[in-house]
Amino acid sequence: MKFLLIKTLNIKLFIKNSLNAIFLVAKNVIMKRALRVNEILRISDLSFSYDEVKILNQINLSLNSNEWYTLVGKNGSGKTTLVKIVAGLLKDYNGEIEFNFLKLNQENLFEIRTRMSVLFNNIDDLIIEDNVYDEISFELKNMNYNKELIAQSIKAIDEYTHINDILDKEVNELDLEEKYILVLTSALIIKPKLLIIDETFSRLNTSLRKRLYKIIKSYKEDNKLTVLNITHDLEDSLIGDNIILLENGEVKFNESVEKTFDDKLLNENNSNLPFIVNLSEYLKLYEVIKTNHYSMEDLVDTLWK
Ligand code: ADP
Repeated sequence: MKFLLIKTLNIKLFIKNSLNAIFLVAKNVIMKRALRVNEILRISDLSFSYDEVKILNQINLSLNSNEWYTLVGKNGSGKTTLVKIVAGLLKDYNGEIEFNFLKLNQENLFEIRTRMSVLFNNIDDLIIEDNVYDEISFELKNMNYNKELIAQSIKAIDEYTHINDILDKEVNELDLEEKYILVLTSALIIKPKLLIIDETFSRLNTSLRKRLYKIIKSYKEDNKLTVLNITHDLEDSLIGDNIILLENGEVKFNESVEKTFDDKLLNENNSNLPFIVNLSEYLKLYEVIKTNHYSMEDLVDTLWK
């Protein structure tokens, strides 16, 4: 009888402890989610080597929804390698990647790719089909969109990229600007949550580069889009919110554009400052203005006051 009582008490205690443990785990998961509600990409303890040569070393980085990040770093610092890993193209890494709360693995790769667009440097490698319509509907067909849904998607994206102007053309009839518009349209038409641009626009003249960035910016303002733009030109960073520096395979910082330039976080890297930041520095020196300015309109306003 005594033995039976002890056994019952033990079982009760066991159930109570188990319920407490389950409650604590659930609470932690909910709290973690609540804290990370704005997060679109989380990279944890990521390391990667090519043939025993370490390229990325224990990277931790998180990107928030609806923010524009500019990733900078010297040639060979591992920027493209990082992008390839996030895009699921390199698998032999240590660490964990979560996109939109989904762990990056073989099972989730298709779903992740329906919400992430990656533009690499060579756009000819990005174009698969012979004509514009087939090219921009390629991913949508993969996602089982019917003709009607494809037409709706084209109508929606045309507002930003004016793709209808070249919809009936063959790819080999397109000029350079039209080719870039095609590639950008294909990237945005799937309504990605994350757009990665890996030096895709680096070789373009300033006016075309500006036009493409403007399209992305206006799309981003109406749709929740996170942008990760890899560039060597710090001028490009002023359109965004944050700057990330990758150095020797490590993330040195991920800070707002203003903090990066106000605190001179990049100056040691001999980077060419954006024109407006440079000008602000000189005008501060001559006590014409007191703080840095990050847009020409803003600076002109201050000077006119
Ligand atoms: P970044 O984009 O910053 O210029 P990468 O990620 O392209 O840097 O390259 C990082 C380093 O990895 C470089 O030293 C490069 O030579 C090396 N690397 C890149 N691809 C390969 C590869 N397929 N095999 C071996 N080494 C590579």
